[in-house]
Amino acid sequence: MIPSVLPTYNRAPLSFDHGDGSWLVTTDGRRFLDLGAGIAVNALGHAHPALVEALTTQAAKLWHVSNLYNIPGQQALADALVEATFADTAFFTNSGTEALELAVKMVRKYWHQKGAPERIEIITFEGAFHGRSTAAIAASGAEKMVGGFGPLMPGFVHIPFGDHDALSAAITDKTAAVLIEPIQGEGGIRVLPDQCLKGLRDACDETGALLVFDEVQCGMGRTGKLFAHEWAGITPDIMMVAKGIGGGFPLGAVLATEAAAAGMTAGTHGSTYGGNPLAMAVGAKVMEIVTAPGFLDEVNRKAGHLRQGLEGLVAVHPEVFAGVRGAGLMLGLVCQPGTANLDVVKAGYDHNILVVPAAENVVRLLPALTITDDDITIAIERLDAAARDVKGAGA
Ligand SMILES: *Cc1c(COP(=O)(O)O)cnc(C)c1O
Repeated sequence: MIPSVLPTYNRAPLSFDHGDGSWLVTTDGRRFLDLGAGIAVNALGHAHPALVEALTTQAAKLWHVSNLYNIPGQQALADALVEATFADTAFFTNSGTEALELAVKMVRKYWHQKGAPERIEIITFEGAFHGRSTAAIAASGAEKMVGGFGPLMPGFVHIPFGDHDALSAAITDKTAAVLIEPIQGEGGIRVLPDQCLKGLRDACDETGALLVFDEVQCGMGRTGKLFAHEWAGITPDIMMVAKGIGGGFPLGAVLATEAAAAGMTAGTHGSTYGGNPLAMAVGAKVMEIVTAPGFLDEVNRKAGHLRQGLEGLVAVHPEVFAGVRGAGLMLGLVCQPGTANLDVVKAGYDHNILVVPAAENVVRLLPALTITDDDITIAIERLDAAARDVKGAGA
């Protein structure tokens, strides 16, 4: 008999009741150190007092009015995002997938307006993850996501991640846009080197193609800059944001330059819930905290601490781990071919620590940006114990 909850997830047998910072407590009272942060969503940890206050204050005033009316919170958060980034304008969604949908529509409208509606090819990368809608799975092209769901939305061209020659050959005057995660999350914490990001920007400038960054996972302070592409010193034309920006409240956004967004006039796009007052109150508070002086310096400092601890684990358990990769507090422990990343994740459960599997046999660490040095020390101890168990089990 089919379960009453549609069984599309492989869930761990854990149920949490409440949280505090980087800690989660199960319904039966066990405390877990959370290095997954709801897959990079709980950017400020669980139950951050300022976010609870922002949400509950707004909840007592107004939940929803619809986009038939002005929503002052949208103006405030859009202003803050425009002020802090390359963007001239922002549209609010409830998720990363919805941000992908608008990004694709924006690209198509852009070329339509330019009198080249046939220019629809969007280049994407193997291992990419942009969400689970029909357009988002077509963008990824991965068999495990698209299998059985055809016919797929046309227009996506998939090329190998970080292959310069394939890329140079693929970007032509037929290319409408290049869509890429500066750091692949689901794809296994694969960092696109700054040089490649710069090369992409140049190739897009040469052909007029739009450059679209998916910073749903790597954005909002995760790498130690507000957005990951800032490390490379270049900017996109369009950017998808979600996950961390809502700190756990469903919120996403598409940021764009004036030129890229020019076709998106009244009536061309909308959302019932997107940009509702609750999401705006929380999002504005997250932005305020992450952009406050010194916050990202602390992220960078703690990222160094965590990374050093992980490098130590690799040195102590070379049979289990092959290396560390990633940036800031978006890190991956690459497992040796003889060790399954899922076994490390499960051993972590036995030692009350939560980490997240990713492709390429990687164990992903995406802690709250507010994780403390003490918690990092505990995390390394528990991961060490988990690695010992995995080794004992015959890795
Ligand atoms: C999670 C994710 C998405 C999809 O976001 P949802 O909020 O799950 O729709 C898109 N892109 C990237 C890079 C992601 O990590």
